[in-house]
Amino acid sequence: MITNKKKLTVTKTVVQYSKPLSQEITNFLHSIAKDCIKVKNAVYERYSGIGSVNKLASVYTIMNEMRYCGLRTQLDLPTVYYETAVSEAVSDLKSNWAFIKSKIILEINKKENLKECEKIYIRTILQNNNIYEQVLANQKHEEIRNTAGEILNEKKLDNLIRRLTRKYHICPHAESQNRFTITPNGYSYKNGYLKMVCRTPRKRVAVPMKDNREFDRQLLIRIVGDHIEVTAPVEVKIKKHEDYENTIYAYIGYTDMITLSNGRIYGEKLGSMVTLETERLNEANRRRQIEAKAQDRKIDELGNKKYAAQKKKEHSKTTNFINTELNRMLRTEKPKRIVITRPITIEPKKNYSPYLNRKFSRSFDNYVRERIRYKGRLHNIDIVEINPKGTGSICSQCGAEGKRNTGQFVCGKCGFNAAIPLNSAKNIENIYNKS
Ligand SMILES: [Zn+2]
Repeated sequence: MITNKKKLTVTKTVVQYSKPLSQEITNFLHSIAKDCIKVKNAVYERYSGIGSVNKLASVYTIMNEMRYCGLRTQLDLPTVYYETAVSEAVSDLKSNWAFIKSKIILEINKKENLKECEKIYIRTILQNNNIYEQVLANQKHEEIRNTAGEILNEKKLDNLIRRLTRKYHICPHAESQNRFTITPNGYSYKNGYLKMVCRTPRKRVAVPMKDNREFDRQLLIRIVGDHIEVTAPVEVKIKKHEDYENTIYAYIGYTDMITLSNGRIYGEKLGSMVTLETERLNEANRRRQIEAKAQDRKIDELGNKKYAAQKKKEHSKTTNFINTELNRMLRTEKPKRIVITRPITIEPKKNYSPYLNRKFSRSFDNYVRERIRYKGRLHNIDIVEINPKGTGSICSQCGAEGKRNTGQFVCGKCGFNAAIPLNSAKNIENIYNKS
């Protein structure tokens, strides 16, 4: 979600569906998707190495090299698909490096045997791709100014950077996917058809769409069975509400979606709704397993269509509920500002059981937050995120440490007794107004 500079519109994505397509058309679409993956993997192989950190800064250079390397002609892939795949692969590699750097920074921050000035040295190098590349190539690099005035063992630190980089560096590889992107010059709309560039020059493949909407931005094409789903970004005008003047303090919970410090609750019992959703899907999955066993096949070999459809349906029930309740909150509370806590990030560990992983991925906390931020932009509401520290454990009335059990917060000092989410929401209000 991007808020545009002038703040008159926000970008949101919408989905458009095609009608069922002929085998010929779906074959064509699959062949484009396949070739785009080949292009991406070629870019990964060429430019994911540690010698290309600095080169990635310029998509232009890489694009130029890829243009003349012969792969496009060999695949006979139209430029509109080829070049989009190249630039997507480049941005994948860039975010890959950003990930590697963030991992290194996390790790050095935790190292107690490193002095602060040494950590600054490492961070400075990571910020400068030119020097970083020299360090990785074991070359002499320009001096890093050391404000603390201490003599650093640069050799040791450079070695550490190389070691940590090797630890997190991988060459990405894209598996075949049923999707690709197409730039605006690669398609047009006409009479309810999406007409896409094909391998024959000056010819277009006409895909019949279910509605007459027309887009003019980069499209993501997803092939699902015998039809396609087109995802397009659209501009939505920001709504200004003159009567939205309140500040509300919201605790985002797992049982009830939102509890405000004024005591009102929105998205009541979201938790049990999500649990039911998970249980129904688990049950469906269990049935699939039994069925697969009976047929002596792997679960992936069974048709995924029905299960995928059920998953989608279950999921949209919950997301509809979340959005309806958030909208009701905005209408009722008329906020100018919403104060929430920053999310507590749980670093995924490898040894989590699949069950726990599933539980985390199914938690709707992130989705709720993302929707609050989006609606904030759409309705011109300030979303303020504060540090959650202390919001759960202290008494909102007197500040003493309280006790929490079976959903209730009880303060031994002043006797305050309230639902845990309500006490937390009141703490959010206190912390926000004190700062
Ligand atoms: Zn108290």
